[in-house]
Amino acid sequence: MMASQVYFTSLRTGYHNSLLTKIQRLALAAGLEDVVRKGGLTAVKLHFGERGGTAFIRPVLVRPVVDALLQAGAKPFITDSGTLYVGSRGNAVDHLNTALLNGFAYPVVGAPLVIADGIDGLDEVAVPVNLKHFKDVMIASAIAHADSVVTLTHFKLHDAAGFGGAIKNIAMGAASKKGKMAQHSEVAPRIIYKKCIGCGLCLERCAHGAISIVERQAGIAAPSASAVKVVQIDRELCVGCAQCIHGCQQGALTIDWDKDLPKLMEKIAEYAVGAIKGKEKRSLFINFLTQISPACDCYPFSDAPIVGDIGITASRDPVAIDQACIDLLNKSPHLPSSCLKGEEHYPDKIRAIYPNLSWERQLIHAEEVGLGTREYELVEVEGGKK
Ligand code: SF4
Ligand code: SF4
Repeated sequence: MMASQVYFTSLRTGYHNSLLTKIQRLALAAGLEDVVRKGGLTAVKLHFGERGGTAFIRPVLVRPVVDALLQAGAKPFITDSGTLYVGSRGNAVDHLNTALLNGFAYPVVGAPLVIADGIDGLDEVAVPVNLKHFKDVMIASAIAHADSVVTLTHFKLHDAAGFGGAIKNIAMGAASKKGKMAQHSEVAPRIIYKKCIGCGLCLERCAHGAISIVERQAGIAAPSASAVKVVQIDRELCVGCAQCIHGCQQGALTIDWDKDLPKLMEKIAEYAVGAIKGKEKRSLFINFLTQISPACDCYPFSDAPIVGDIGITASRDPVAIDQACIDLLNKSPHLPSSCLKGEEHYPDKIRAIYPNLSWERQLIHAEEVGLGTREYELVEVEGGKK
């Protein structure tokens, strides 16, 4: 496979060269006008940020992309789909309220907001893919029916997938609730009985009624003689959202890093194939390497960035752009004010934070299923009067 082009612009600006101008120039260089058709409904796929999070793409930076789409004759709409977990984006009403609170209002972004999988996450289209894990994938209908997709991604790290880039944004983010469940389904937590004190803190985190606290049966390991209760997880009800793992202060819930997560990453790659199926040539990806946080934007907080802001990339190839972003991240010096402390050099910042995660699997499988290539040529887009 030939190398794909990934366009890059730094964040340096001047009087005649604002970041807004640079974003538009970058999008046009990467082929924005070629991916849309006159009058074509164009999904601008975003993550509006969880309430409490602050690292998502600033709404004002979305406007130049929308303006360029309007100038090209497209009909853009700003979109995302509902989440599986308890939070502020689980249905269309909460989701739109959160988007507005985070600044994604029509007068700012210049296009209407549409929740892609409907009021309760049930508006979906089965897209046939015939791949290793899925025959069909369940895609949110507004994205499945769009004529073109422009995916705007805040690039960051992710505790289950290693990194959240263009592939994950269009894969998990374009999936309906059923689609999200299908990707997460084998990530049900495992219980470390000898650590569980039966406190029930995890129960409060589970929105799916999958957790109960039961009497500990004879023969089940316990941290102490007084630990007579123990957690129980109903794997039929569990959607693998991992919220309980973060809620347990005893470290009694875990996932199988070697088996479960590589499978999740492969499923993500296959969903990305389905999300842009039929519009592979009408898709564009723009990744923002700004405020690169150590975890997902789905948390109600954003921890300190691990490197200084790097720039913005754009490409027609979601695999190439994610690989380029990882390389740019790893070349950047870390910020000791973040969770990456000290003077040490971290050549692989994802592994430095998630040592058990083989993050490459997402990209390797994305290549295997024909989503794109990890080979890329970085093309700098600068110019313009300072
Ligand atoms: S898994 Fe953790 S949070 Fe849940 S009951 Fe056991 S110790 Fe408490
Ligand atoms: S991962 Fe934990 S919180 Fe999420 S559905 Fe399963 S048991 Fe519930």
